[in-house]
Amino acid sequence: MALDKPHWLHLFKEVVTSGLCTGCAGCVIACPHDVLRYDDSNGVYKPFKIEADGGFDNCTHGEKGCTMCTRACPRFRTWEEECDNYLFGRQRTIEEVAGVSSEIILARASDPEINKMGQDGGLVSALLIWALENDIVDAALLSYTPNSAATPHADNIPPPDIRTHYLPNTDSAGSFAGRSQKAIPLVAHNRRDVLKAIGSRYTYSTNPLGYFEAVQDGAERLALVGMGCQSSAPAIMSARKAGKVARRFVLNIGLLCSKTFDETVFPQFFEQRYKVKEEQISKINIKGVFQVWTTDGSYQEIPLKEAYAWTRDGCKACPDFAAQHADISAGGIGTFENWTLLIIRTQTGRQTIDGAVTAGMIETRPVDDDPNALKTLNKLSRISRKRWPADAITGPGLI
Ligand SMILES: Cc1cc2nc3c(=O)[nH]c(=O)nc-3n(C[C@H](O)[C@H](O)[C@H](O)COP(=O)(O)OP(=O)(O)OC[C@H]3O[C@@H](n4cnc5c(N)ncnc54)[C@H](O)[C@@H]3O)c2cc1C
Ligand code: SF4
Ligand code: SF4
Repeated sequence: MALDKPHWLHLFKEVVTSGLCTGCAGCVIACPHDVLRYDDSNGVYKPFKIEADGGFDNCTHGEKGCTMCTRACPRFRTWEEECDNYLFGRQRTIEEVAGVSSEIILARASDPEINKMGQDGGLVSALLIWALENDIVDAALLSYTPNSAATPHADNIPPPDIRTHYLPNTDSAGSFAGRSQKAIPLVAHNRRDVLKAIGSRYTYSTNPLGYFEAVQDGAERLALVGMGCQSSAPAIMSARKAGKVARRFVLNIGLLCSKTFDETVFPQFFEQRYKVKEEQISKINIKGVFQVWTTDGSYQEIPLKEAYAWTRDGCKACPDFAAQHADISAGGIGTFENWTLLIIRTQTGRQTIDGAVTAGMIETRPVDDDPNALKTLNKLSRISRKRWPADAITGPGLI
């Protein structure tokens, strides 16, 4: 028995049930023995182990030496320090409250249609289209809302294969009926797929779980789009040499994020308090308030703080506003609508931006054009860092 090596027994106690687990599913996609599943029913958003091979809280493969789930978890033990050292060759300093970066600028899609459809500048979608059309990646792990009236080319059912590692018979395809804001993973292979996923949903979508479908489709090189909790997963896998899965993530695009909301926010908050039904919502953005566009063409603003009671549990201890371990991070902070705040962090991030600029897919401008953007970035990053529990392993700027 290799009890000294950390495995599911330790992950279950130290992360899954301690309040640190974000629900990113890094452990699920890395498990080589296929004993982990994912529960996204009733707002749970957590991994769980099947009963066989050691029960729900232990694992016989772990007892024999398998450590893969702990090596793929971006909240296990000294995760932040290890990711920083792997990606940047050093730990962040206390001043680098939004993580290590090489440049921060504003950017947007050059194509006016993508720019208009995008959540902010359509930057993320323009980069993905460029990467897919220029043989940089084979597929991209994204998120979409299959039943949304606003989703271009809506299919009305989730892709059939993508749910293989979810809790069986709970949130199966049928239960999506009427759930127009239920965000789920989408594997994108081309421009059409990317545009199906464009825009932001503020409920949780476990994009890394698209890995199974992408690999089954034969994709070798993947782009991942996800919030910080998800974009630290490829980094920690690489740092801890979980290379079989990590090597496929060749482009990691992070989204700035202070929280996601429990799905009950729609019936209990938007509908009951503000008479806005889930199926009427065509777009939501957050700019200090909820900006809500509805399918009848009207627009209204709804107080954001009132909805904090519906914060998803997995976000409550998350210290990462700025997606600190992505190649590039993108956010909607700032005065200018239709521009995305862009943080370039790694060499891959730099090459991606340079390539897309040269191809005319995106355009950029200095962040100094918007003096408030950096202030807001640092302020929101600082707030998130205070959420990390005092009794968990600490790092610069964490309590
Ligand atoms: C839950 C969430 C919270 C956010 N919070 C903030 C914030 O507090 N401050 C801030 O500045 N920016 C925040 N953002 C980022 C912002 O909303 C934009 O995603 C970002 O500015 C990029 O805009 P874009 O127009 O370039 O992206 P687009 O071209 O519109 O592409 C957006 C991409 O995001 C993916 N996506 C959408 N929803 C989800 C989801 N729920 N889970 C995973 N992937 C998703 C889509 O698949 C798409 O590929 C948040 C995003 C999300 C998803
Ligand atoms: S944080 Fe992610 S990798 Fe870690 S236990 Fe939770 S779902 Fe698994
Ligand atoms: S706040 Fe955002 S980055 Fe943090 S756990 Fe929640 S979804 Fe993930």
